[in-house]
Amino acid sequence: MGRMHTVLVAGGGVGGLACAHRLARRLPEGDRVVVFDHRPVHTFWPSLLWVMTGTRRSSDVARPFGTLRDARVEVVQTPVTAIDPKARTVQAGGQTWTGDALVVALGAALDPDGIPGLGVEPGNFYTTQGAEAVWTELQTLEQGRVVVAIPTTPFKCPAAPYEAAMLIDGYLRKRGRRARVSVELWAAEAAPMAVAGPGVSHAVEEALAHRDIAYHPSERLEAVAGDRRQLEFTGHPAVGYDLLAYVPPHRVPEVVASAGLAPEDGWVSVDRHTLETSHPGVYAIGDVVSIPLTMGKPLPKAGVFAFTEGEVVADRIVDQVGGRVSGVRFDGRGECFIEMGRGQAGFARGQFFAEPAPAVRVYRSGRHWHAAKLAFERQWWSQWW
Ligand SMILES: Cc1cc2nc3c(=O)[nH]c(=O)nc-3n(C[C@H](O)[C@H](O)[C@H](O)COP(=O)(O)OP(=O)(O)OC[C@H]3O[C@@H](n4cnc5c(N)ncnc54)[C@H](O)[C@@H]3O)c2cc1C
Repeated sequence: MGRMHTVLVAGGGVGGLACAHRLARRLPEGDRVVVFDHRPVHTFWPSLLWVMTGTRRSSDVARPFGTLRDARVEVVQTPVTAIDPKARTVQAGGQTWTGDALVVALGAALDPDGIPGLGVEPGNFYTTQGAEAVWTELQTLEQGRVVVAIPTTPFKCPAAPYEAAMLIDGYLRKRGRRARVSVELWAAEAAPMAVAGPGVSHAVEEALAHRDIAYHPSERLEAVAGDRRQLEFTGHPAVGYDLLAYVPPHRVPEVVASAGLAPEDGWVSVDRHTLETSHPGVYAIGDVVSIPLTMGKPLPKAGVFAFTEGEVVADRIVDQVGGRVSGVRFDGRGECFIEMGRGQAGFARGQFFAEPAPAVRVYRSGRHWHAAKLAFERQWWSQWW
């Protein structure tokens, strides 16, 4: 029998679990797949939008790592405190682990304090507590102003804040409160989902306008005065709010920056087809990575890419430990549902490595895409639990 191998996967989110499960299915018996995550549960982040509008409870959108079906995926529930990419080691739980390959899948860290005053605001839709806080306030909101804010870019899931605004709109209409509550979207970016091209931006802008959601692009949030319930944007009088639902600023996890894998104000660079870093046998996938595109914007941070990248990296590692040259490549294909509220959704699919700009097709919205998203959520849990 040949030498046994160990693959370390730092992060048990979308990319990490996709990678680990494929490795567990394909590596020879005896090889180890060890996943590190500091949370006790894996959360299906897209469903937080439904926690925020009351059609899911927090317990519906997370499962404990301890109940994963595949016993070959070993999960160590502890923070990764250091990574040495040269030695391919991970420090976690007071131990040093050495891998034949190492996959960094630690996602994006959220930094609400990156904007003065924002961190004390409870309502965001990127954490379970944040989504619950929005839902608590939304149920009793009788009148006033809901502001959905995108203070910084990049952020994961370019569609999420636009979906959030439309889902909030739909909920308020259902409750018969929409005439007395305005819904507005204030964004640092110049257009919705611009990486997918002007067709997608235009379709999203039309969907917002159709729902009477005021859209304020290219606005820079400087500070939040929570005591006065006011947002301070550059060059504007203060914008008041009765309910704030925001995207927390994102940054690279500290452990990744201190490993020298990324600058503190940046992301990990990889070969866009192999996801390998500058260190042989060390890969990075998902939100922790930035892949520049010719059109000037990076590949979006999205689960669909994290998942495929995870599987590509798993296949490359299987080849690597088997002594084969791998031809498996990530090709930048991805797709995305866009929830629009009241049982409607849109869908877009594209080739993001197309030159000179991503080639994206937008499909006509309807109930069937919402049904497809529900089916996708069911499939997410049944594949591993
Ligand atoms: C509201 C919302 C809606 C979304 N909708 C969509 C959608 O419709 N389609 C889509 O494609 N994407 C969507 N996304 C984006 C998608 O969830 C992310 O892009 C995806 O989760 C990225 O996967 P990842 O593996 O890179 O990171 P994550 O899934 O965030 O996983 C990172 C993991 O690392 C762990 N971790 C971090 N630091 C440490 C540490 N120091 N030690 C140990 N563990 C650590 C975390 O606990 C986490 O489990 C949405 C996101 C949100 C928030």
